[in-house]
Amino acid sequence: MAGSATALNLAKRGIKSQVLDKYDFPRDKICGEGLLPQGVERLQNLLGHAALSQIESHPFEGIHYRFGPHEAQGLFHQESGLGLRRNAIDHLLYQETVNSPHIERQRAQIQKIERRDGTFVATAKCGTTFTAPILVAADGLNSSCRRILRLDQPLPKRKRYALRRHYQLAHSRQMPSAVEVSACDGFESYVTPVGPQTIGVAFLLEERCMKNGPKDLDERWRSILSQSHPSLQQKLQNAQALESAQACGPLHRRAKKVYEDGAFLVGDAAGFVDAITGEGMSLALHGAELIADSVHHHYALGHPLNKSGQVYARAWKKHFQNYAALTHGLLWLIQDKKKLANALVRLQRKPSLFTSLLDMNQGRGALLSLNTLKFIELLIPTRTSLPKTTTSLTSP
Ligand SMILES: Cc1cc2nc3c(=O)[nH]c(=O)nc-3n(C[C@H](O)[C@H](O)[C@H](O)COP(=O)(O)OP(=O)(O)OC[C@H]3O[C@@H](n4cnc5c(N)ncnc54)[C@H](O)[C@@H]3O)c2cc1C
Repeated sequence: MAGSATALNLAKRGIKSQVLDKYDFPRDKICGEGLLPQGVERLQNLLGHAALSQIESHPFEGIHYRFGPHEAQGLFHQESGLGLRRNAIDHLLYQETVNSPHIERQRAQIQKIERRDGTFVATAKCGTTFTAPILVAADGLNSSCRRILRLDQPLPKRKRYALRRHYQLAHSRQMPSAVEVSACDGFESYVTPVGPQTIGVAFLLEERCMKNGPKDLDERWRSILSQSHPSLQQKLQNAQALESAQACGPLHRRAKKVYEDGAFLVGDAAGFVDAITGEGMSLALHGAELIADSVHHHYALGHPLNKSGQVYARAWKKHFQNYAALTHGLLWLIQDKKKLANALVRLQRKPSLFTSLLDMNQGRGALLSLNTLKFIELLIPTRTSLPKTTTSLTSP
């Protein structure tokens, strides 16, 4: 998503690029597939309404959070989010790049990057080399480019992983109107509407849960549902699984810098905290626009490349820090189920605060612009009845 979107944004500004990807498209990517409203707007601006309506999708009106008996729903303002299958949207972006006269696409797995006389020389696994004055690393969570450019940071101690699967529901009336998140012991489940009767289900798991249980991922999936998530198991009782379970992780990745000497990092390659706040695709689309602006300023207005690169790095950081702060906050909260229950009780009473948090997560309004007292109030104990028992995830 980040790579194709960067190339398309550059093309809109009349700048040519070459896109290299190790896979053929359509290809699947493990994702919760819920695009937040600001991401929807960016995607519509990039592709146009007509192109976007070619693929199956399903709108959602907010996020519904559940923990035991506690629940809270945050609604977006006037707009909607959009659930869409990644194989479909990534393929649509791919097709747009193929059809663009400004973009050349090639299948190539980059393994080596050198700088020769101010030009990047990238070597693919097959031995072919590609040269360019500017390099955009958009190669995802496990970015080889980030590692080769020595911009990788060590993995943080707390490691989280994901499992994902799609289901065809028996009735369209079972479709959720919001992304449904349930916090369980050691993991959360995400249910996203992605088509007229299709949902994506993802589990985000702490390391101990990922390491526990059957090796076979479908068996692992069944064991999570039966032992730790009976309500979801019941919901999926008459639904048809559309593929086997897939896993990825660890999720948290950090880059030392997102710009250095002609090399830009964008999307997950630039850093990813966790999928818990569902902001990754929107960030990738935003980063793609920011890079295209910077490169355009360099070519069209004659700004020195490093100056344009620093402008990108600052703009990206400004957007990323809200998402990162909220995501870290939520990751901290879900470790303490009592605090989580308190926060849900408060959010249920103050849906406008939930809406403000969803806004902030999308980069609208700074963290400090929130009424700080209201925010702290979220964490103050309230008189709640917490569930007496919690189930833990173990192998059968
Ligand atoms: C479980 C899970 C749930 C998520 N849920 C959501 C959600 O609900 N909403 C949301 O907005 N975001 C979500 N995200 C985040 C979102 O999926 C990512 O932020 C987004 O896909 C980033 O896009 P990208 O283009 O940076 O990376 P990718 O989509 O991973 O693309 C990277 C590309 O680089 C290519 N590549 C890799 N290495 C090389 C190489 N050496 N040479 C050439 N090509 C290479 C790959 O083939 C791939 O096509 C979720 C993530 C996970 C893991």
